[in-house]
Formats: sequence, structure tokens, C-alpha cells
Amino acid sequence: MPELTPEQINALLSIVLPPTAARAGWEFDVTELLEAKQVLRIHKPIHFRWTSPRRRNGTHYVAITPGFQLVHKITLNQNGHITDANATLWHEIAHAYQAERWAESTGRSIRHFYQEAYKPARGAHGASYQDNAYEIHARKMADANKHVMLLKERKQ
Ligand SMILES: [Zn+2]
Repeated sequence: MPELTPEQINALLSIVLPPTAARAGWEFDVTELLEAKQVLRIHKPIHFRWTSPRRRNGTHYVAITPGFQLVHKITLNQNGHITDANATLWHEIAHAYQAERWAESTGRSIRHFYQEAYKPARGAHGASYQDNAYEIHARKMADANKHVMLLKERKQ
């Protein structure tokens, strides 16, 4: 069995991908994904999985693994067109970025991001999800970055 380099081990710990390519014919571009993660200084691992078809196009949340490790969990709709899926992916990565920057500036754990930062940022009483300052920021970040493809067409 070949030895893994430290870089390869870090890469393995850094992202966990779904076991299959997307039904729509694309897959994650691991190199681009790791690069984006590094540039954005997202230090915690990101675990990706497919959403169930009836749910939203993507979600981000923070979870604790059975080994008590904090990880980002991002779900993505595997049935979407690659261009749309890539924009959604950038949006969810923006939430991972927000959680880590918030944790850095407050000294709190990223696991408290949604309760302590995201929920109070929803704006005036009755304001919609769309008005949340973190959603506005995530949409801007996705728009600014979606030309960078983190997904690629699957080779036949
Ligand atoms: Zn969002």
C-alpha cells in the first residue's frame, strides 16, 4: 500500500465527498474545492452529501462528528444543472466562511453561529429569509465567485 504524503492526508481529512457522482452528470472538482477552501480560510472540514430531491437546492449547517470534531455539512441537489449547482455550492460555502469568520472574531465555536449570529440577523420582525444579512452576503459572494467552477462534467 503506497504511503500518503502529508498533503494528501490533509486533503482527505479536509473534505468528504458523496460516494457517487451527481445524477445530472457532474462531480466535485477536488483540486478547485481545496483551493477555494484554503483561499477562504475555511479551516474545519467540509462534509458534502446530496440533498433529498424535495428539499432545497442546498443547505449548510454545523455538526459534531462521533469523534467530537466540528465540521461543516453542505448538502447539494444532485439533479440540478452544473451551472446552477455550482452557484448554490458557492452560496453554501459562503455560509461556512461566515461561520468561521464569526467564530474567529467572537471566540465562540462555529456551532453557535446560527443561533447567536444568523438568527438575530434576520432583520425587522417578520422579515423574510431573503432579508437576512447573512443571506444577502452569501448571495453576493456566490455571484462574485460562481464563474469559478468547483464542479466538473463527469468523464464517461
Ligand atoms: Zn443561504
